[in-house]
Amino acid sequence: MTPLFLVIAATVTVDTGGVAALPLPTGAVDVLYGDEPALIVADHVIVGVGLDAAPGRHHVVVRTADGDKTIDFEVVAKQYPEQRLTIPDRRKVNPLPEDLERIERESKLQRAAYARRTPVRADLLPFEQPVQGIYSSPFGRRRFLNDQPRSPHSGLDIAANTGTPVAAPAPATVALTGDFFFSGNVVLLDHGGGLITMYGHLDRIDVEDGEDVDRGDIIGTVGATGRVTGPHLHWTISMQGDRVDPVVLMQVFGRLAGETAISPQ
Ligand SMILES: [Zn+2]
Repeated sequence: MTPLFLVIAATVTVDTGGVAALPLPTGAVDVLYGDEPALIVADHVIVGVGLDAAPGRHHVVVRTADGDKTIDFEVVAKQYPEQRLTIPDRRKVNPLPEDLERIERESKLQRAAYARRTPVRADLLPFEQPVQGIYSSPFGRRRFLNDQPRSPHSGLDIAANTGTPVAAPAPATVALTGDFFFSGNVVLLDHGGGLITMYGHLDRIDVEDGEDVDRGDIIGTVGATGRVTGPHLHWTISMQGDRVDPVVLMQVFGRLAGETAISPQ
C-alpha cells in the first residue's frame, strides 16, 4: 500500500464550483490562472473553479523578478444533487421561435458583461449577502425543468418577499441592467479582477449602467420576474467566466476579512 499522506500533504483542495484563497508569495509581480490574470485580494490569489473543471492537479503561475513559480492545488469533483422543478409557464421552458432572437440578444449582452476585465476594486472584504432569507435552491443543482434536463443551477436562490431591498455585496460598477426572458429584471455588477455578480428576477431596478455602487447600496428589490416558481433573488457569482458557489465565496472572503482585521497596519 502506498502511504497516501506523502502525496497529498499540504495541497489545497477545491471542489468544482468552489473557491480557494492561496497565499501570495512575496515578490509576486503578476499571477496567471489559465491564460488570465488571477484575482488578488488581501495578499491572496483567489481561484474560482468552474463546475466543468477537470478533477486533478491545477496550478497558478506566479511571476516574480526571479522568474516564474507555480502554486499547485487539487480540484475535486463535487457531486451536486438533482433538482426537479415544475414551471407553469411552459414557454419559459420551451421558448417559441419568436422568443429565440430575444434570448440570443440577451445572452450576448450577458456574455459581454461577464467578459469584462477591469482593475480589482479596493475594499472587497467582506462580501456581504445581498438579501437575507432561506436558501431556496443552492448552487450547482443538476436541474430538470418540467422533466427536461437543463444546465446546472448557476447561482444561489434566496427566498424573500417581493419588494425586499437587494444590496450590493461590495464596491462595484454596474455592468448591465435589463429585462431578460429567463432572468427577468437583472443587474450585473463588476467588482474588477474578473469578479462579476448577477442579480436576477428583480421586481425593480434602482441603478443605471455605468454607475458606481458601494457595499450596502440598494441596487433593486426582490421580485418574481422571468422564469420563476415564486419571488426570490437569483445570485450568480462569476470569476474569470466560471460560475462559483456564492456561499463558498462569502466564507473565503469572510475568513480573509478576519485575518486582515487582526494583522498589524
Ligand atoms: Zn436561481
